[in-house]
Amino acid sequence: MNNVKAKKLLKDKKVVAELETNQRAHFKVVSNDEHSVIFSKNKGWSCSCRHFSIKRTPCSHIIASQEFLKRRREKKVK
Ligand SMILES: [Zn+2]
Repeated sequence: MNNVKAKKLLKDKKVVAELETNQRAHFKVVSNDEHSVIFSKNKGWSCSCRHFSIKRTPCSHIIASQEFLKRRREKKVK
C-alpha cells in the first residue's frame, strides 16, 4: 500500500524539500535508501527508485512528496 507508506514517510519527516520554483520541485525522501523525487511542470513527477523505473506508476516517495506540497500549500492559504 503506497498510500500508507507515504503517510508514514510524511509522519516520520522523511520528506525534505530541496528546491522549489514555479517550474520544478526537488525532494529528497529517505526510507531504506535515499531517493530523489523531481516534479517538473512539463514532465510531471518522477523518482529515482526501482519501483518507479520499472512500473512507471507513482511510488510511495512521489505520493509522499505530493502530499507534502499539498499540505504546505494549505498552510500557506490559511
Ligand atoms: Zn520512489
